[in-house]
Amino acid sequence: MASGITTTEAADLQSAASPPSAPILDVNGVTIQYKTKEHLITATYRVGFQVFPADRFVILGPSGCGKSTLLKAVAGYLQPVEGEMRLKGNIIRDPGPDRVMVFQEFDQLLPWKTVKENITFALTNGGRCDNARDAEEIAMEYINKVKLDRFENTYPHMLSGGMKQRVAIARGMAMEPDILLMDEPFAALDALTRRQMQEELLQLWEDTKFTVLFVTHSIEEAVIIGSRILIMSPHPGQVKAELNAHEQSIATIGEDEFASLQSKIHNMIFADRVLEDETLPNV
Ligand code: ADP
Repeated sequence: MASGITTTEAADLQSAASPPSAPILDVNGVTIQYKTKEHLITATYRVGFQVFPADRFVILGPSGCGKSTLLKAVAGYLQPVEGEMRLKGNIIRDPGPDRVMVFQEFDQLLPWKTVKENITFALTNGGRCDNARDAEEIAMEYINKVKLDRFENTYPHMLSGGMKQRVAIARGMAMEPDILLMDEPFAALDALTRRQMQEELLQLWEDTKFTVLFVTHSIEEAVIIGSRILIMSPHPGQVKAELNAHEQSIATIGEDEFASLQSKIHNMIFADRVLEDETLPNV
């Protein structure tokens, strides 16, 4: 169980549904540190969680609590100093096409390639397709899914921020990874586009039931997107609680249960005490 949680939070952890299938992603006691010239920074401390097939698993916490660090470690770019991460039972040691990341930044597309070429390039280089015709067919399928079919030959600089994010999502989904990793993908969008993108992501999930690990610092976004929400405490990030949000979505915004889940999470996050680095054991 997560360290440093209260009895109420422990009850929440226990009441969270335990899906019957084997986890796709199993994160166990993971501590991740950054070494700089002057400091050793503990970004996450003994974090554990499991992501099951078709979960919309959200990691929620204040800035600096280690959300992006965790995602980068799942992607294979960082190694924990303690604990382990397993994807389908295998320890994660390197990046691989079985995990695809979608970032917040609008410049994650190749500017010299069109929308379609950005996707076909990822498919052929990522090893999902070995011939151009298949790659094109798959790319068009996903371009249609994100409603960009009139833009397949457009270059990224001609697209709005929301459209660029749609391409990045289409590219990620086209790779058919075991898990799609999304690092605050809508945070740089205006409020209306952000809501539209949340709706579209949920619609895509209804269509294909992919597994997604989604990082955000917005409580509302976590409740909208997440089927399960992992709440992290401030720096260094530890698991504070895990909650179910299966029954909440865009359709329930404004309803009592949505508001009460939001305020419960708000209270958990703001009741937190910042744990000082010196209180941590040397790991
Ligand atoms: P979040 O995504 O929750 O905002 P991050 O994972 O980006 O948090 O960062 C967690 C902690 O690790 C922060 O204290 C941050 O300053 C530190 N950190 C992140 N990246 C680096 C890095 N490359 N070098 C040193 N410290 C880092």
